[in-house]
Amino acid sequence: MNTINNNSIKNKKRILLINPDYELHTRNFYEPIELGIIASITPTDEWDIKIVDLRIDSINDFKADLVAITARVLNINSTYKILENFRKNGAKTIIGGIHATLFPDEALNYADCVVIGEAESVWANILKDFNAQQLKPQYFGSTDLTYKLDRSHYKHYYKTASIQLSRGCPLACDFCCINKIHKQKHFFRNTDLVIEEIKTIKHKTLFFTDENIYGFTKENRNHVINLFKEIIKQRLNKNWIGMVSINAGMDDEFLYYAQKSGCKLLIIGFEADDKESLMILNKTQNAKLIDNYSAIINRIHKHKIAVCGVFIFGLENDTKKSIENRRKYLLNSKLDSYLITLLTPLPGSKLYERNLKNHNLKFTNFPTDWDKYNFYTEHFKDYKIDNIEQIYQKINQDINKPRFLISKIFKTLINTQSISSTLYSNFYLVNHRSEVNNVPFLRLLNKTFENKHRRFYIKQLRK
Ligand code: SF4
Repeated sequence: MNTINNNSIKNKKRILLINPDYELHTRNFYEPIELGIIASITPTDEWDIKIVDLRIDSINDFKADLVAITARVLNINSTYKILENFRKNGAKTIIGGIHATLFPDEALNYADCVVIGEAESVWANILKDFNAQQLKPQYFGSTDLTYKLDRSHYKHYYKTASIQLSRGCPLACDFCCINKIHKQKHFFRNTDLVIEEIKTIKHKTLFFTDENIYGFTKENRNHVINLFKEIIKQRLNKNWIGMVSINAGMDDEFLYYAQKSGCKLLIIGFEADDKESLMILNKTQNAKLIDNYSAIINRIHKHKIAVCGVFIFGLENDTKKSIENRRKYLLNSKLDSYLITLLTPLPGSKLYERNLKNHNLKFTNFPTDWDKYNFYTEHFKDYKIDNIEQIYQKINQDINKPRFLISKIFKTLINTQSISSTLYSNFYLVNHRSEVNNVPFLRLLNKTFENKHRRFYIKQLRK
């Protein structure tokens, strides 16, 4: 654990950009991209800039001139506490991110200023107003993807470099809050900018932070394929992981260039294994392709790419039978790894609005109850079955049993014919699992995987 010391640099104002801690399924420490972007567009001749990543750092001194935090629902209450502490000590405080965008009035109780939308487009104005002691309570930002990320602001070794190709998603899943922010639009970054950024990255592994790098239209997929072609042409020699909607798995050309450009693992929201559930979730793409689930996994494997399937339990229509079917599907499918959650009515999603209106949410004492919106708590008053949380925990245990994990390693190796995709699918998202650390064989593979990437990073630094 590192400690941030606020030693002042003469004549410069101090700004802390804070990434609050949270734990979901993985703590693999990828770079906090939003804060890197803000740091990159803050003038260094005027400001002493520190990114404080509370997954690694701690704050032992609450002195700063300006503090900016980006938060989500699952860490909003810890964020509010941090902001209050800084305010007590005289700092001006700014909050941004999805939650503050959706609930600016609530956020203003804890911060001096709320950024509604995306901060890059209004950041220069915010700093100007701060300097003039005229910071406004609200700023409205829009999408601006012209930034150039300066990685020198990241003071830690992160296992993975985060990079954005796009923002937003054209689809409209019922449980997702992305659309509330981006209105179903998909914004792409300029290819040259992305290529230039990749060239500056010392890491072997890139995580594309996009909600959906594939999208829906021909134009979107052509844009991404052209980017992959450029990565190949310029021999950038990286491995990457990204999230795509399931339709990407039908596109051989996309998969071909993805693999050639370094793709090792695609994370895909399968969500459920039956049409009715998918339609309730408004996951129409998946519902249309449900009979092709196995063919899609096979096709991606043929391109030597592993697949992590995301599944949801505790759906509004879930019965004992449907949950058991989904559990069996997980255990028997050819997917290489899994992330499973309990259905969570994320604020901003249609699922949340509908259940709030119907008085069907168990937890509405906000902001205290935001802590419950953590993807493993049951939320609805009218589930069709009891003990949904216990059922979910049991399934989580089943897919994390050492025997199951070890068998997956061999199966992925056979299916993808790729050692690196096998290692990524089995260790990239799971390095915190106690099962991995408790089983010598898994621990050894995990350590080998991590050390290999650390050595690559050090070698690049020395160049
Ligand atoms: S495909 Fe993913 S990002 Fe897009 S709306 Fe659905 S859940 Fe959200």
